[in-house]
Amino acid sequence: MKKNMEKKIKFVLGLAICILFVTTAFSVSTGESYGTTNDETESDTNAFSYTSSHIRIDIPNAQTVASKLKFDGFDVLRGTVTTTSLELIVTSGELIQLEEQGYKPVTLEKGRPLREIQAERGKGPLPPPPGYPDLTQIYAEMNAAETTYPSICKVVDLTTTYGVSPTFEGRNLYAVKISDNVDQDEDEPTFLMVSCHHARETVTPVIALYAIEQLTTEYGSDPQITTLVDEYEIWISPVWNPDGYVHVFNVNNMWRKNKRPPDGVDLNRNYPFGWNGGCSGSTDPYSETYKGPSSASEPETQTMIAFSNDRHFTKVVDYHSSGREVLWGYDSYCHSHPFDSFLQSEAVQLSIASGYGGSIRGPSAEGENYEWQLWTNGSYGNLIETHTQFQPSYSSAQAEAALVWPGALWMLERSIPLSGHVTDSITGQPLEATINLIGVTFPNGEVFKSESSFGRYHLFLPAGDYTINFSAPDYTNQSHQVTITPDSAEILDILLVRDNNPPDAPDIDGPTKGDVGKEYEFTIMTTDPLNEDVYYWIEWGDGTIEEWIGPYASGDNITISHTWTEKGTYSIRGKAKNALNAEGAWSGPFNITIFAPELDAGFITGGLLKVNAVIKNIGGAEATDVDWSITLEGGIILLGRETTGTTPSIPDGGEAIVSSSLILGFGITKITFTMEEPHGSSDIREQGAKVFLIFIKVDPSGGI
Ligand SMILES: [Zn+2]
Repeated sequence: MKKNMEKKIKFVLGLAICILFVTTAFSVSTGESYGTTNDETESDTNAFSYTSSHIRIDIPNAQTVASKLKFDGFDVLRGTVTTTSLELIVTSGELIQLEEQGYKPVTLEKGRPLREIQAERGKGPLPPPPGYPDLTQIYAEMNAAETTYPSICKVVDLTTTYGVSPTFEGRNLYAVKISDNVDQDEDEPTFLMVSCHHARETVTPVIALYAIEQLTTEYGSDPQITTLVDEYEIWISPVWNPDGYVHVFNVNNMWRKNKRPPDGVDLNRNYPFGWNGGCSGSTDPYSETYKGPSSASEPETQTMIAFSNDRHFTKVVDYHSSGREVLWGYDSYCHSHPFDSFLQSEAVQLSIASGYGGSIRGPSAEGENYEWQLWTNGSYGNLIETHTQFQPSYSSAQAEAALVWPGALWMLERSIPLSGHVTDSITGQPLEATINLIGVTFPNGEVFKSESSFGRYHLFLPAGDYTINFSAPDYTNQSHQVTITPDSAEILDILLVRDNNPPDAPDIDGPTKGDVGKEYEFTIMTTDPLNEDVYYWIEWGDGTIEEWIGPYASGDNITISHTWTEKGTYSIRGKAKNALNAEGAWSGPFNITIFAPELDAGFITGGLLKVNAVIKNIGGAEATDVDWSITLEGGIILLGRETTGTTPSIPDGGEAIVSSSLILGFGITKITFTMEEPHGSSDIREQGAKVFLIFIKVDPSGGI
């Protein structure tokens, strides 16, 4: 189509604007009194291409045209649409598109550096107070608050903390944390105040800085503020779009989006909820409401998601300008929330407290931060459009900050209808539980959860009776009846009981044969489904038992040993229980056969000066330390009546020959040969013999 032509026109126009800005930026930087730091210096090459214009279109059916243009992604300024005209802020490309479509835009104002505008405002007979702080000055104020109030105020680098990419121009995102014991992660509800998703809305950082000042300077003297700071973790981020904010100061005061090439992304259209739906921002990269190439594509959005998932914000206020109204709920053209009427009436109260007389509306689109917070964390979240202009005089912005501040306090004071903790009933460990409201349908898949650090949860519920179910994997779920009234601050702490599935039957492994009296090693192992430590009960099959030895880590192979004192076949078995006393089944039997030596006395043979005898080992195991004796009874034995000895070892199936000591004597005698080994096997043999002084003749018969 004409897309290519459009691009060419954009490029040519961009070049012309480039030349214009190179000259104006130069003249501004020479005449400026602001300290220009590296952070404030904009040297990017695409800054030239696109500026913005504030235009008016005079046309008879202006309201219809406004709706159509809004639908097409144009940034129609709310409150400017009459029956005959409407005002918009358009990019250079959009201006060309409008002209091509036959509109006759009247340019009211061209985007230019806010520094230049402020310098002009600073002149004249009654100059306004010094102008809006630039990004460096905002960070300096945040740091000064930390330095002055270190016990309650801390600047946190969110980009580093959550390991997210910095912005396209390499900046980190920061927030101030204000709480008692600010260095600790305390078990407290959390409140997020964020400003300036849209770069040109310079009123909103002023509001955030005012909040920081109030909370720090009044802590300890104003009892309301002291209590809130003590009881909440308050997070305030004055500028969520630092690249755009710097661009507003140095190049184009009407800049709205971040600085993703080529033309930026509308950060308040980039959040996941509704991003794919019919109420999302524009898909045209040159639109002022371009939603980005994908959901949460922007580092700023990714940082907010990581930050919010970590802090699980109880309450969120997102300041924008302009319009002096509170935005609530989802875009009703695309999504509804079961508590819409509650959210709406709460928004009226917040609007009144913020000095806006109850003025409220639904959001302009989806993909917005507060909608996502409501959807994903059940946060009490709203967007507040402040003031009637993006960049009123600085003194007017300060007055607006003071005007809306009671609204922030009101939000902090708003009781949490139901909150508490979900923890393990035995260990007290915090649990990330899923919380379901029985009978309430959430058509957009909202899930309520407790957070992981403390198990803390919050539920903002309209008045009514509820059945609330708490569940977590491996735990028995619980349902509770709760009655909520308009000012309920119910606390319901839930102790979930773990499903105590026992460990598996253990596996036993080791030798299947062994000798009596020897120690043998076995391994035993089981796993516990909950990975709890385990204890083992082991029966060796000989009447001895190891009773609940442990604890051992689930899945570890444990070495155990045992010695059997008698031969036989033994069935070893074991079972395990976990640290929560759930006892599992018996293992299958593991059999070991224990062999013992068996001594058999062999023949005694005679000869010169001594007799010999044989010890046989006919058992299944080596015989050790075999005590034996050879004694002669009867006759006149002068020497060698008794000989004793110990044979250290006779192998299984082997034999040993032992000899008496020197025998001298006469006559008929009886030789008794005994043997015994420590495990109880013994034998005896008797044979008759005649001694002829130095010769012993043994009767080969006889014996036992
Ligand atoms: Zn905005």
